[in-house]
Amino acid sequence: MARPAKMQIDLAALRHNCTVVSKIAPNSNIVAVIKANAYGHGAVEIAEALQGYISMLAVSSAEEAMRLRSNDIKTRILLLEGCFEDSELICASLNNLDVVFHCRNQIEALKNKNLVNPINAWLKVNTGMHRLGIDVGEAIECYQQLLDNPNVNPNIVLMTHIASADELDNEYTKTQLATFKTLHKQLESQFNRKVETSIGNSATIIGWESGASDWIRPGIMLYGLSPFTHALPIDDELEPVMTLRSEVIAIHDIPVGSRVGYGSTWEALRPSRVATVAIGYGDGYPCKAANGTPVVIKGKRAPVAGRISMDLLTIDVTDVPDVDIGEEVILWGKTLTANEVAKWAGTIGYELVTRMPLRVPKRYC
Ligand SMILES: *Cc1c(COP(=O)(O)O)cnc(C)c1O
Repeated sequence: MARPAKMQIDLAALRHNCTVVSKIAPNSNIVAVIKANAYGHGAVEIAEALQGYISMLAVSSAEEAMRLRSNDIKTRILLLEGCFEDSELICASLNNLDVVFHCRNQIEALKNKNLVNPINAWLKVNTGMHRLGIDVGEAIECYQQLLDNPNVNPNIVLMTHIASADELDNEYTKTQLATFKTLHKQLESQFNRKVETSIGNSATIIGWESGASDWIRPGIMLYGLSPFTHALPIDDELEPVMTLRSEVIAIHDIPVGSRVGYGSTWEALRPSRVATVAIGYGDGYPCKAANGTPVVIKGKRAPVAGRISMDLLTIDVTDVPDVDIGEEVILWGKTLTANEVAKWAGTIGYELVTRMPLRVPKRYC
């Protein structure tokens, strides 16, 4: 019998979330961010399922892009961090990859090259996050250099990234957006041409109308998770794509005072029924999930009882009647989001889904 720890990936939910994005920003083109194996959901399958729903894909490296190309994905793909070495410029030119230029070194590397096809360039500017991007004061000169380079298509997209869009009362986002807008206007008037823009990640798309731009870059919301840590109406519209499930493989009825698991951190304060589930931190379930972290069994919530092991975890099912061996347990999914579990483990839903190991098989439906 196969080990029951599995991921279910709901591609209809993915497409539904895509339509939610389109509804929020009807005038923007969608660049679906599928870096890091589509946040753990399987990049090739996600790219295939999104065909017809999006304009472009985005990944973080040429390796990730080439894995898509070798699986017959023909959609335009953006390299979010640009090229790490010269050979990747040639690769990008040959394989129709759009390339971010976030620093002078990357622009320099394009000089004196003789690429077969000119590259679609995205000039990334630093409007205040101070992670990647050309400083605003140097943006015009860098734009000029790209424009003058025969290896670059003249339709260069101006792009930035927002640091705190998930805090709706944080004025800093307004400052970043205003800085970007001023620069954009300046570029358009100085070069006397329309310059396309790209701003929004999920939090900016949902929270900041003015973050809408020609090209929006949703990631986490496509997978049905909110980028916000507090509850918002969007929670009811997004549908989680990944369900992590396993099954009960042992049950113990224990008397008051019994202790459960490594380090004996959980104590039965009443006669209790403890169920052992075939999933653990070796399957991507967070090791740090505290006693009390909910799971779903028989449509009810039951708390984690005891430390998470590599292959197993234990839950208190005293209040869930008729639990048997073989009962399905949902670790996260539609009725219990990865974001909620993440809070119990001191992390974020992004991390939980993205770091899922290969050991857990994916079922697409
Ligand atoms: C990862 C990433 C995104 C997507 O962010 P989400 O919060 O997942 O929507 C957008 N833009 C850039 C540059 C990124 O690196």
